[in-house]
Amino acid sequence: MPLLLAAARPCAQLLVPSAAGAVLGRPSTARPLGRGTRRGASAVASEKTVVKAEEEEGGGEYDAIVVGSGIGGMVAATQLAAKGARVLVLEKYVIPGGSSGYYRRDGFTFDVGSSVMFGFSDKGNLNLITQALKAVGHKMEVIPDPSTVHFHLPDDLSVLVHREYDDFVTELVNKFPHEKEGILKFYGTCWKIFNSLNSLELKSLEEPLYLFGQFFQKPLECLTLAYYLPQNAGDIARKFIKDQQLLSFIDAECFIVSTVNALQTPMINASMVLCDRHFGGINYPVGGVGGIAMSLADGLVDKGSEIRYKANVTNVILENGKAVGVRLSNGKEFFAKTVISNATRWDTFGKLLKVEELPDEEKNFQKNYVKAPSFLSIHMGVKGSVLPADTDCHHFVLEDDWANLEKPYGSIFLSIPTVLDPSLAPEGHHILHIFTTAGIEDWEGLSRKDYEKKKELVANEIIKRLENKLFPGLQDSIVLKEVGSPKTHRRFLARNDGTYGPMPRGKPKGLLAMPFNTTSIDGLYCVGDSCFPGQGVIAVAFSGIMCAHRVAADIGKFRFH
Ligand SMILES: Cc1cc2nc3c(=O)[nH]c(=O)nc-3n(C[C@H](O)[C@H](O)[C@H](O)COP(=O)(O)OP(=O)(O)OC[C@H]3O[C@@H](n4cnc5c(N)ncnc54)[C@H](O)[C@@H]3O)c2cc1C
Repeated sequence: MPLLLAAARPCAQLLVPSAAGAVLGRPSTARPLGRGTRRGASAVASEKTVVKAEEEEGGGEYDAIVVGSGIGGMVAATQLAAKGARVLVLEKYVIPGGSSGYYRRDGFTFDVGSSVMFGFSDKGNLNLITQALKAVGHKMEVIPDPSTVHFHLPDDLSVLVHREYDDFVTELVNKFPHEKEGILKFYGTCWKIFNSLNSLELKSLEEPLYLFGQFFQKPLECLTLAYYLPQNAGDIARKFIKDQQLLSFIDAECFIVSTVNALQTPMINASMVLCDRHFGGINYPVGGVGGIAMSLADGLVDKGSEIRYKANVTNVILENGKAVGVRLSNGKEFFAKTVISNATRWDTFGKLLKVEELPDEEKNFQKNYVKAPSFLSIHMGVKGSVLPADTDCHHFVLEDDWANLEKPYGSIFLSIPTVLDPSLAPEGHHILHIFTTAGIEDWEGLSRKDYEKKKELVANEIIKRLENKLFPGLQDSIVLKEVGSPKTHRRFLARNDGTYGPMPRGKPKGLLAMPFNTTSIDGLYCVGDSCFPGQGVIAVAFSGIMCAHRVAADIGKFRFH
């Protein structure tokens, strides 16, 4: 798609909650976000979080400082707080959540990023978001999604991923009857891995005692996981499937969670999401995805720890080579036994740590992984009449050519969360959250006027494509439209170049090269999507749980059961 116009500064409005007074972590709009309930209490809105403004005095040394309140950071913080650690979360923005945050505009509550919530069911061991909330006494009301995503692909291939695995497989086999055996074997292998993972109590893979214990209790499951750890979904698919279109479909299955094709997607990551969506199902939190981070922040404070917003960490303070605290942009310093960075690794090692030379393991990481592109996002409010009555919540659109799958602006992600939760929009209206991959280089060096013009042009092209493919009359139904570029993502999500996360430079050895939580700097840990096992809410929650376990073991103060 020719996208040749120019850009200037990011749209300052996108991603800003409609809250002038949000410094205290509490969006000012009166309507509660989410309906998180504390055990035993009824309908406690998560906006009650009592937090300190960054300006207020803190006290003494903390067990851990967490830089950033994305889901990875919040899960690590709350897991530690639940075990009695004293934690301080420092968030640059005005509310928690990062890419899983929200903002409000004119009666619409928009998810900033994630809308397809994996790991959010009430069963198994991989419902890590549910478990993280429970650890601090919270539970959110959810709406089960009858499907995960509706694919609209080249050659009019349309596949709805049903909540029920058998319905999904039946639909796929009907489209590819000659590949029935291959389909069953590929997804069957995913289940083998998922069931192994799901049978373990997930903690830090860097903690030998835990690993030893798990191996002793579940040797078969551990060996299964070890076998698939260095493998990629594309290679396994090719063992069982020959049809090129079906292999391309599996690429699309992987792309929607990892922004790379199946050959570049570790089999363990693919299995987690391709099975969790059927095992526990995709469940949408009432009130919007932002309620999850808000509820975790509430839980953190309930457990005696702290979260401060508008707290821009500029330095990790080192003493004799050990991380001992952080400095904010206003010069204020905080000290702790450990520092956990939820910023991307590029930000952590490129900005927060002022070391003369990048540690070898970071050099290796940067050799193996590059920054995935960012996104062009369009948040829209539309008249409800434009959507057919049976419209699914999530869609993925790639019109004519499989070769465009990974190209910038090539494919379109679309979420319509109001299909599940109408309370997110004024009556008679829907939300359309549309996004497509885009690189920051396409948006740099433009005058403000050209930048705004380019956003308008690109957004209109994407909307026109959706109008042609799915919803005739879409343009005329728009009542609100806000467009964010990769620069918007960089600015408001504090992510290097607005990146979605690490993307393997070539074909990875499965998950083998992904760094864990510890770093080569004593006392400094990383958490979130640039750590094992990678991007996506379920993965960063896993990273948070592993990180907290490792930190707790290192502090030697808290027992993890
Ligand atoms: C458009 C979009 C759609 C997505 N859709 C889905 C989906 O449907 N399902 C899914 O599972 N995943 C989805 N994802 C991916 C998922 O949202 C992310 O992988 C995940 O939320 C990342 O969490 P994180 O904890 O690693 O970090 P982040 O969410 O990036 O949070 C990091 C936090 O750290 C803060 N921070 C950074 N630097 C500093 C600093 N120096 N000082 C203080 N604070 C700092 C940031 O402000 C931010 O709040 C989507 C992502 C995007 C962008």
